[in-house]
Amino acid sequence: MTKQQFKAESKRLLDLMINSIYTNKDIFLRELISNASDALDKRNFLSLNDASKRVAPEDLTITLTLDKENRTFTITDTGIGMTKDELENHLGTIAKSGSLDFKQANEQMNDIIGQFGVGFYSAFMVAEKITVDTLSANDTQGYIWESEGADGYTITESNRTTIGTTITLQLRKNEEEEDYDSYLDTYKVKSLVTKYSDYVRYPIQMLVEVSRLKEDTENEYETVKELQTLNSMVPLWKRNKKEITQEEYDNFYMNKYMDWEKPQKVLHYTIEGNLSYNALLYIPSKTPFNFYSQDYEAGLQLYSKSVFIMDNAKDLLPDYFRFAKGLVDSDDVSLNISREILQQDRQLKAIAKSIEKKIKNTLVDMLVKEREEYEKFFINFGLQLKYGLYSDYGAHKEQLQDLIMFYSSHNDKYTTLKEYVERMKDEQQHIYYVSGDSIEAIQKLPQLERLQQKGYEVLYFLDDVDEFAIRVLNTYMDKPFKSINQGDLDLDSEEEKQEKETIKKENESLLQALKDALQDKVSDVTISSRLSTHPVCLVSDEGISFEMEKVLAQMPDGNGLKATRILEINPNHALFATLQKIHETNKDALSNYADLLYTQALLIEGFPIEDPVAYTNKVCQMMIDANK
Ligand code: ADP
Repeated sequence: MTKQQFKAESKRLLDLMINSIYTNKDIFLRELISNASDALDKRNFLSLNDASKRVAPEDLTITLTLDKENRTFTITDTGIGMTKDELENHLGTIAKSGSLDFKQANEQMNDIIGQFGVGFYSAFMVAEKITVDTLSANDTQGYIWESEGADGYTITESNRTTIGTTITLQLRKNEEEEDYDSYLDTYKVKSLVTKYSDYVRYPIQMLVEVSRLKEDTENEYETVKELQTLNSMVPLWKRNKKEITQEEYDNFYMNKYMDWEKPQKVLHYTIEGNLSYNALLYIPSKTPFNFYSQDYEAGLQLYSKSVFIMDNAKDLLPDYFRFAKGLVDSDDVSLNISREILQQDRQLKAIAKSIEKKIKNTLVDMLVKEREEYEKFFINFGLQLKYGLYSDYGAHKEQLQDLIMFYSSHNDKYTTLKEYVERMKDEQQHIYYVSGDSIEAIQKLPQLERLQQKGYEVLYFLDDVDEFAIRVLNTYMDKPFKSINQGDLDLDSEEEKQEKETIKKENESLLQALKDALQDKVSDVTISSRLSTHPVCLVSDEGISFEMEKVLAQMPDGNGLKATRILEINPNHALFATLQKIHETNKDALSNYADLLYTQALLIEGFPIEDPVAYTNKVCQMMIDANK
C-alpha cells in the first residue's frame, strides 16, 4: 500500500514535533482528551437533533487503557468519529491555522504549540506510531489511519462496529532522560487527568488494578481490575453558589493551592453577556513565605470550557493584587492561547479588568463592613498595595489610595487616609506623617510633641516604601502630606513667629558658634518650633528625607544622596540658658556641647553615630567636670 504524504506544512511541523524540544510533553494527553470531549459534544448534539442517532448520555465516555507489555497508551471515545474524508482532511493536514512562520519554527517550538495548538500531532512527542481506528456516526464503514510520523500515513478499512474513535499510541523508547514509560503508570496518568482535564463533562475512565481482600478469607488479597472514573466532571466553580459549603470552598483551596490554612476570603461569581466568564478567587489568610521574592508565582489558572489551559496566567491580575489565588473559566477563550498571546487578547484583557474591579470592590466592602478582617488582610498584603501605588509613576493612584492604611497616633490603630482627613482640625493644612523603624521608636520622637499638643494626628510610616508612595500621591483630597521632621511645619501663630524671630536675632552669635563648631555636619542650627520638652532634634530640609536617605543607601545605585541636616534647638528648654552662658564665658567648651547635642539628635533619629568612643569620652569628661 502506498503511503499518502502529509501536506507540506504539516510535514514540517510534524518533523518539529517528532524532534521536539518542547518540554511539556504531558500536554498530549490534554489535547487528546479535549478532542475526545469535542467529539462527544458533537455526538451528543447529533443525538439531541436526530432521533435515528440517539445515544444514551451515560454511553458518552472516554476510556484510557495502559498496556505495559506492548507499551501502548490507548484513548477511546464514543464520540462522533471520523469519516474517511475527515481522516484525510483533519489528520492529514495540520495548518488550518495557515499563518505559521516555519522559518523560525525551530526556535519557537514552544510558542507554536502554545499559539496554534498542534492538538492531535502533539501525540508524536511521545509516540513513534499512532493508530486511529474510527467509525463515524454518519457512516457505516470504519477506517484505520496509521502513521509513524514524517513519512506519511495510510488509511485502511476497519471492521469496527461501534461509533467512536480509538487512538493507540505506540510509545517511544526511552531516549536519554525522557521517560515515556511514565505514561504507562496508572498513578501518573491519573494525576495528569486530574490536573488538566478534571472537569471535562464526560467521564474519563481507566481500568485500574486494585488489591482487595479475597472473599471468605481474612488476610488473602487479590488483584482485580476495576473501571474507575478519574475526573470529577462538574467543576466546583460551575456549581450553584448556594449549594456550595464553606468547607468545600476551603478544601478546594487548600488542596489546589497547597496551603495549610483556610483562605481568608472566597470570591465566586459568574459574569454573563458580551464578556462571559466564571471565577473562583481566594485571598490567602497569611502571606506566602516567598511573596515578596522573585520566586513567588503570581497569576490565576486559566480554563476554557472547563478544560485547563495554564497555570499562573499573570496578565489576569494586576501586580498589586498578586496575592489573589484562583481560577478563571471562560467559554470565549481559545483552548490554545499562549502566554505570549494572552497579553494581547482583547477578551482576556477585558476579563482581567473585570477581575481587578471585583477584587477592588471586595476589598472596599471588607474595609467598610469587616474592618478587623480588612486590617488582617492589610497586615498580610498591604505592602504590595503600597508598592502598587508607587509603581508606574502613580498610575494606579485612583485604584489604590483608598485601600491603603497607616498606623496612626489618633488611636494607635490603622487608619485610612479618608478617615484621617475627616478628623482633621479646621485650621489644619497638612496630613502629617513621620517615618521610623518601629511604633515605639516613633512614639518617643521629640518632634511629635508640638503636634500632639495641637491635637494634630500623625501617621506612622513603618515601611521603606511609605514615603516613596506618599510622594507619588503628593496630596489626598487636596491635602498635602507633610513629614514632621522636614522643613517648616508651619505650626506657629503670627505672634509665635514674631517671638521666634526675636529669639533668633538675640542669639545669632550663639547659633553661629554652634554651627561653626559642627562645620559641615549640619547645614544650619536654628530655633525650633516643633519641640516642647526636648532640648534638640535633627530635621531635614524639604526634598530627601532621612528615611529616604536610609532606604537609598541600601540600594546598589542609590548611594550618595543625602538629606540636608538641620539641628533645631528648643529655646524654652533649660539647656538653652546653659548654652547661652557657656557661649559668654567659655567659648572652647561650646564646641563639645555642640558635638554632644548633635550626636544625641543622631541617636534619636536612629542614625549611627560617627565616633562612639569620642562621644562617650566627652560624656565622661563632662561628668567629671560637673563634680570638680
Ligand atoms: P483541533 O482539535 O484544534 O481542531 P487537532 O489536530 O487536535 O486540532 O484535531 C484536528 C481535527 O481532527 C479535529 O478538529 C477533529 O475534527 C478531528 N478529531 C481529532 N480527534 C478526534 C476524535 N477523537 N474524534 C473525532 N474527531 C477527531
